[in-house]
Amino acid sequence: MAHSEDTTNIVYGAPLERSIDVSLGELMLPLLKAHDEQVVQVDGETNEPLTAVKLMKRAIKLAKWYEKQGLRIGDSVSINSENRLEFCTVPIAAFFRGITFAPLNPDYTPRELNHVLNLSKPKVIFCSAKTVDKMISILPEHPHVNILVLFGKETRNHPKVIMFDHLMGDVDSEEVDEEFEATPLDIVNTVATILCSSGTTGMPKGVMCTHDNMAAFIDIGQIQFKEIVQSEDPDDALMGLVPFFHSFGFMLMFLNILRGKMMVVLGKFKPKVFLESIVKYKISRLIVPPPVLLFLLKHPMAKQYDLSCIKEMRSGAAPLGAELEKELKAKFNVEHVSQGYGMTETTLAVLATPHGKAKSGSCGVVVPGMMAKVIDDDGKALGKYQEGELCFKGPLIMKGYVGDPESTRNTIDADGWLHTGDVAYYDSDGYFFIVDRIKELIKYKAFQVAPAELEALLLTHNSIEDAAVIGLPDEMAGELPLAFVVKKPGAKLTEREVEKFIEDNVSPQKRLRGGVVFINEIPKNPTGKILRRVLREKAKNMKSKL
Ligand code: AMP
Repeated sequence: MAHSEDTTNIVYGAPLERSIDVSLGELMLPLLKAHDEQVVQVDGETNEPLTAVKLMKRAIKLAKWYEKQGLRIGDSVSINSENRLEFCTVPIAAFFRGITFAPLNPDYTPRELNHVLNLSKPKVIFCSAKTVDKMISILPEHPHVNILVLFGKETRNHPKVIMFDHLMGDVDSEEVDEEFEATPLDIVNTVATILCSSGTTGMPKGVMCTHDNMAAFIDIGQIQFKEIVQSEDPDDALMGLVPFFHSFGFMLMFLNILRGKMMVVLGKFKPKVFLESIVKYKISRLIVPPPVLLFLLKHPMAKQYDLSCIKEMRSGAAPLGAELEKELKAKFNVEHVSQGYGMTETTLAVLATPHGKAKSGSCGVVVPGMMAKVIDDDGKALGKYQEGELCFKGPLIMKGYVGDPESTRNTIDADGWLHTGDVAYYDSDGYFFIVDRIKELIKYKAFQVAPAELEALLLTHNSIEDAAVIGLPDEMAGELPLAFVVKKPGAKLTEREVEKFIEDNVSPQKRLRGGVVFINEIPKNPTGKILRRVLREKAKNMKSKL
C-alpha cells in the first residue's frame, strides 16, 4: 500500500529541469556532427588525435557491424582494455543501437573475469594486447561470447579473434553516412551501462544505469558543472587518466565528447607522461582521484615541472583530507580545490562543490534534482550536524544490480532511497561531510576491493579455517587490504604464503598490502556476521605498538 513519506530533514538539490528525452545515441549523433573536425581526444603518449567526425564515422560503422552480428537492444558488449583512443567508439556505437556497454578492469585475473562476465554476459568483447590472451583462455567457459575484437597492431591467430583496425577498414577516408539514424528507445528502462561495484556488501555486482540516468547526469552537468561543460575556452583540455571502466573515468570521457573539447588519454599512470601532458596541453582543470593529487604533492619528479597552468583541482571516488586540500592550495597556488562524492550506483557525483565555493573537508552540496538524507539506526532522518547513514533518491539512482533483485532491494528501499553505507553529516549550509564507512568496502587508491571476495578466496585455501579482511588506513593509498586469518589445526602457513595466494588469484589493487595477521578466532556476532569494527580496532592497536 502506498504511504506518504515524512519529508522532515530531507535535503534537496536545486530544481532540475529535464531537457533530454532522447536516447544517448540520438543525443550524440548531431553533437558529433556539429563538433566536426574538433579534436575530442589525443593519445598522451603518441599525440595521435581523434576528431569528432572520425569518431562518428567509426561509431556508425561499428553500430552497423553490431547489427550484422545480430546484437539487439538488451544485448551487451564489453571492453577489457586500458584507456586508449579506440575505447570511446565502442560505447558510442552501442548507444546508437541501444546495446548495453559493460566494461571490465584490464587488470582482472581470469578468476575475476569469470565472475563478472557471468553478470553482464557480453556477446562481443573488445580487448587490448595486454588482455586478449587471458580472455582467450577463459572463452570455453563463456559460450555467450561470440567474438573478441583486438585493438592495436599485434595479431592473434584464433578463430574467435578479429582485428579492430580490420573491422574499421578505410572508414576515416569514407564519406559520412548521412542516412544513419540512432535507434529511438525507451530511455527510462533501457540499460546503457553495466559497471562493476560490490555495493555495500558481498561480491562485485553489475550496476545497471539507464539512458535516462545518464541523460539526467548530462542535464545536471549543465547546471552543476556549467563552467566545465560550457567552457568558452577552445583549448580547455581535460585529463583522461581515470580508467574508463570506472564510472568516474567513463562519465568524464563521455561528457567531454559531448562538450566537444579535448581530452588527453593516458592508458597508464606514467609519472613523466602525466606531468609532460599537463604542461603540453595546458591542463587548467585537473579532475582526478586523491592518490594522483598526493603524487603531485609528494613526488620529487613533480617539482621538476612548471605546473602553474593548473588553476583548479577536483577530486572524487575516495576521501580527500582537509589537510591535503590546504597543502595543495598552498603548494600549487590554486584557488579551487574541491571534492565530489558519488557511487557507481548513483551514475556519478550526487554531492558536488559549486565552483569557487569549496568548504574544507566537504564533498559539497546535493546536485540539482537529487535528494539526500542522513538516517539513524531506526531509519529516522536526522537534522544538521548529526552523523548517520547517507541516503539518496532521484534520477541518478541506478536501475539495480543485474540479475540480483535481492541485493537491489537491500540497497534501494521501497521508497526509492539508495542506502550508501557511508556515514556523513551536513552543516547549516547543506554541505556534506563524509566521516566513516559502515559498509564492507575497502578503497585502495580509489579502486574498490570487496572484503567478501577476498574472504571467499581465502576460505578456498587448504590450510585456512576462517578469514576476515579489513582496510588499514594509509596516507598514500587511502586504505590497504589486511587479512586476519585462522589457520586449520596443525596447518603450517606463513604470512607470505597467504599474500602470495591472493596475489596469484586477484588483480593488483586487491593484494594484501596491509599484511596478514594470524589469530585464533574471527570475532563475529551471534548471527555469524564478522565484527569488522573489532578487527579495525585490533589493527589500530597493533599499528600503534609498532
Ligand atoms: P565507487 O562506486 O567505486 O565510486 O565507490 C563509491 C564509494 O567511494 C562511496 O560509497 C564512498 O565510500 C567512496 N567515496 C567516493 N567519493 C568519496 C569522497 N569524496 N569522500 C569519501 N568517500 C568517497
